[in-house]
Amino acid sequence: MSKYLVIWPKSSNVMHINYHYTQFGEYVDYLNKKFPNQILALDLDIEDTDLNKYIENNQIKKIAMQINYENSKNAFDIIKSLKSNYDIPIMAYGCIPRMFPELFIDSNIDMIINNGDDEVCIESFFENYKNLESVSEFKNKIKGGRIIKDKNFIDTSSGEFLDGSEWGYSKEELVPIKEYDKIKGKNRYVLNISRGCPFGCSHCLIQITEGNIERRRTIQNIDNAITDISDKYKHIKIWAANFTLNKKYVDSFCNMMITKHPDVTWECATRVELVRDIDMLHKMHLAGCTQISLGIESLNNKELIQTKDFKNDEIDTAIKNIQQNEMKVKGCVMLGMPNQTKDNIIQTLSFLKERNVIVRPTIYTPYQMLDKHINVEDLSKYNRKTLKNDNVKGVTSEQLLQLVKSPYDYDKILGTRDTKDDIEIS
Ligand code: SF4
Repeated sequence: MSKYLVIWPKSSNVMHINYHYTQFGEYVDYLNKKFPNQILALDLDIEDTDLNKYIENNQIKKIAMQINYENSKNAFDIIKSLKSNYDIPIMAYGCIPRMFPELFIDSNIDMIINNGDDEVCIESFFENYKNLESVSEFKNKIKGGRIIKDKNFIDTSSGEFLDGSEWGYSKEELVPIKEYDKIKGKNRYVLNISRGCPFGCSHCLIQITEGNIERRRTIQNIDNAITDISDKYKHIKIWAANFTLNKKYVDSFCNMMITKHPDVTWECATRVELVRDIDMLHKMHLAGCTQISLGIESLNNKELIQTKDFKNDEIDTAIKNIQQNEMKVKGCVMLGMPNQTKDNIIQTLSFLKERNVIVRPTIYTPYQMLDKHINVEDLSKYNRKTLKNDNVKGVTSEQLLQLVKSPYDYDKILGTRDTKDDIEIS
């Protein structure tokens, strides 16, 4: 029987393993249910495979390829190579085709995603795409795609969003999740439970790739996933931009974890202003939550990110609320924002260190500033762990990268503050 292949091209610099769970394993599982015994998945960050032999040995009928910043250079090389050797229709999904469709015009690829959920578009492509000569016959059966013909885009029907009961979850028999865990050095399962974010921070990719309306995986679907994997995993990383945005959902989730999975622990992420409800935090602790990540970014966000104008005392209270309910706090911090100063970075990191917050820094990466003229080689440099950023006066890009690795060593890396103004906590 001929097969459909989903490929994750090899990343150039840093692998973002969590996305292999969410944007690869979860999609492959969904597609596997729609096309039983016909879906193959190839993760080239993990598997060193001769793609030509693989294609020939497996009678591949169509290909869907995930393309993000890290793997874009290799993805375009693969498209070129495959298209020169085989007449197999290929489509691209992920953030690059959504953000930079023009890059694909000369690539010989057959279709890219335009809107809606990735899996819906891939499913309709596998099901309906024929060939460019008959495009008018099938284009309206494809959801959320852009067919490329004679260097022009032909838009298909609009994309659709899946109901949260239909989202897939990563399975060992379909994608190499054990290898993902080895790379991370952690035995924990990643499960995406929300898509879309209403806050619209300009630097963030989520609104572009998932939209600004939040959608969630159903509690029953989560229960099924955890039941399936809980003999192998006892800790779950809940992947959601703002887990506590919907308190009713959090309550239902906690009830399910307490009654069905009392031996499974979990962690989540949310915003500073969404952890004021002490009863909710207490219940999360009882339901197995061990850690909450907060998008703090910096102590003077007012000058930096309009959508995260938290007061310092609000950040302080959020940290205390979580810690008093016996959960750890991870603080997500952004380095290299325009107008950020060396003193502010030191203040932010020392403030978090004094409070025993685990710090996870990333480099400010202005995806929103990129335009269609960017070339593929430069896309691969846009990585929040490795981008060279010279925005902070008196701090080199190398020092920022050292801070990403060792945020608690800010005094060794940056020295002392230039001013002695205290941090205001009312
Ligand atoms: S709140 Fe977080 S996920 Fe939402 S847009 Fe802002 S940075 Fe992105």
